[in-house]
Amino acid sequence: MGITDITDGVLRRIEDAQDGAREMLLDPVVRLGVTGLSRAGKTVFITSLVANLLERGRMAQMGAVGEGRIASVYLQPQPDDSLPRFDFEGHLAKLTAPDPTWPDSTRAISTLRLSIRVQPKGLLSGLRGLRTVHLDIVDYPGEWLLDLPLMTLDYAQWSEQALNAARSPARRDHAAQWLAGLDQVDPAAKLDESVAGEQARAFTNYLAAMRAAGLSDFAPGRFLMPGDLEGSPALTFAPLPKPDKGGSRSLWRAFERRFESYKRLVVKPFFRNHFARIDRQIVLIDALGAIHAGPQAVADLRGSMADILEAFRPGPNSWLTSFMGRRVERILFAATKADHLHHTQHAELTAIMEALVADARRRADFRGAQTGAMALAAVRATVEQMVDHGGQELGMVRGRALDTGRDIALHPGDLPRDPNALIGMATSGAQSWLDDGYSVMRFAPPRLTGIAGEGPPHIRLDRAAEFLIGDKLR
Ligand code: GDP
Repeated sequence: MGITDITDGVLRRIEDAQDGAREMLLDPVVRLGVTGLSRAGKTVFITSLVANLLERGRMAQMGAVGEGRIASVYLQPQPDDSLPRFDFEGHLAKLTAPDPTWPDSTRAISTLRLSIRVQPKGLLSGLRGLRTVHLDIVDYPGEWLLDLPLMTLDYAQWSEQALNAARSPARRDHAAQWLAGLDQVDPAAKLDESVAGEQARAFTNYLAAMRAAGLSDFAPGRFLMPGDLEGSPALTFAPLPKPDKGGSRSLWRAFERRFESYKRLVVKPFFRNHFARIDRQIVLIDALGAIHAGPQAVADLRGSMADILEAFRPGPNSWLTSFMGRRVERILFAATKADHLHHTQHAELTAIMEALVADARRRADFRGAQTGAMALAAVRATVEQMVDHGGQELGMVRGRALDTGRDIALHPGDLPRDPNALIGMATSGAQSWLDDGYSVMRFAPPRLTGIAGEGPPHIRLDRAAEFLIGDKLR
């Protein structure tokens, strides 16, 4: 750990102590991080959560709502002027239009402040009057979390790891084009920006193919989610085999410098300024997508969940420890899009999530924060239907197809009854679970009838909210 890390860490702690003191005097603030890989459902989740907290007609499983203790909920200007605001109104307008569409997905970090006026619980609560709790929701791409391991590697080590991984059986087909181009490149040759750009592009395409196949391990995260850094030199590098010698103007040296800039200018500020300040975290996971993609994708999901837990509780020697003045108190792993399954299969999906979290906790040797697992749908796009299928009753879900707009009823296949059969499955010769029915399941958002006092329909969004912030509203 360098001297700047220690100074940064001390500054961070002073800032956190100031925040803490301010919050004791003023109203408490809960910073809720919402993350997950691209298309996991972050934008839909936040939009529906906020709309449902504003209305509350569908949030009975939140203790404070069920007990009638919430007086009002309203949006406020956020305290951090340097961050983009989450475009709640724009996203909700798309979801609630007469011909609704899904909102645009998360591309970078953004935030939104919601304030909740609540009657505290307990005997003397009537005397204590209403309290205000501020909920700062921070939306950020899960891809950015994958950058954390880079901080402990130098360029040569990272290159070697990335090249070895790319040649592994699960990845080599995706990497073929990039590696074929790399064979023509001399890392010791003088830097040529067109070669550098071509390498960065081919490497990014490989990362995108891995993500599309449900495989994890596609750092650097900004290559796929550049935010405002698109095309900048800090993102124009890629792994290279180490040359015996390479002068200071060589491609190798240029990439080495850019890799270090990426860590210093991109990764570190994100973890220091945003990640380290989160109190509660929900990690959204397209678990059905991973199960459908196959055993390798599930195995990678297991690994990345353990990595995420480690990031939130770094070990004593970790670079991150010096920043983590504030400790995340609750982490919820939620399988999204549960409305793709008939409710008779929800118990299986929940059991799979619970087994995955238990496994991640074991692997990460995780102690401390409360962790939870559940299956939810932030916006329920389907209704259920039982269909007679050759004398057997089959649970189907019915919704509007995204491409044709026509009503379709589908059964995505069956999840295993024993979750360990799925998560412990050997990676070779393994069975697949959700069949072809799942790959054609692309539903349009529901047409909302607009009953006053109700947000969009959902599955267990209120239970997720209770886990994440329920204790702060007591
Ligand atoms: P992000 O990249 O994590 O912000 O993902 P989004 O929130 O934009 O969601 C990506 C896509 O997943 C959406 O466009 C929808 O097609 C789908 N989706 C997300 N949440 C739900 C849900 O609760 N139910 C259904 N049926 N689809 C969802």
